Amino acid sequence: MKKKSILLTAILFLFTMTMEAQSIPEVTEVHEPVPPVVTPGAGTAPPSDAIILFDGTSLTEWEKPNGESAPWKIENGAVTVEPGTGDIRTKQGFGDIQLHLEWRAPEVVKGDGQGRGNSGVFFMNRYEVQVLDSYDNPTYPNGQAASVYKQAIPLVNACRKPGEWQTYDIIFTAPRFNQQGRVTHPARVTVIHNGVLVQNNVEIWGSTQYIGLPTYTKHEDKLPIRLQDHGDLVSFRNIWVREL
Ligand code: MG
Repeated sequence: MKKKSILLTAILFLFTMTMEAQSIPEVTEVHEPVPPVVTPGAGTAPPSDAIILFDGTSLTEWEKPNGESAPWKIENGAVTVEPGTGDIRTKQGFGDIQLHLEWRAPEVVKGDGQGRGNSGVFFMNRYEVQVLDSYDNPTYPNGQAASVYKQAIPLVNACRKPGEWQTYDIIFTAPRFNQQGRVTHPARVTVIHNGVLVQNNVEIWGSTQYIGLPTYTKHEDKLPIRLQDHGDLVSFRNIWVREL
């Protein structure tokens, strides 16, 4: 009888303590970690912790895939594809990032479908978010502007007119592989096009393929960002990245 009452008292005591703890607001306050301070830029200007990839003056952060200097043309704070010279890529490799860039399709409309204002942003040198003049320019939707090329159709078409500057704010999460080379966590991407959410944390199926299905092949944790020369006079400016 005595044992029972001690047990009962103990239970009652614990119950009371728990109820009391729940009524104290400090119990659910978390003090670590304290986020580092980042000073935001005005408008689309880079925040204080960004790595500037192109500020309108030079392509020192970029190169041709063979290591030669990037030959695209800089004019009025923008860099324009020099058709036929090939893609350019960052010298630095990146994994999980937030990327901001601005792009512009030529004002003088030439061609249609995939042949109008085509370029692209390849994350890790292999996963393409499409750049295309998709303003009143039908093509297969999984290949239009802001698509994950031939994988994910954007939620909406937020394209501005040709000749106008457009923004991409992209959050890219690199794929993870196990020791055997199998993908354990596919890459993911969120794309905000001109302030409009168009890809909401979508899964990437593998390396971008023009023909056939995408697959994953194990690669390094950090790889360059590549911009595509698709033969069109697409321009870029204000490119910056934050490593996550
Ligand atoms: Mg492209």
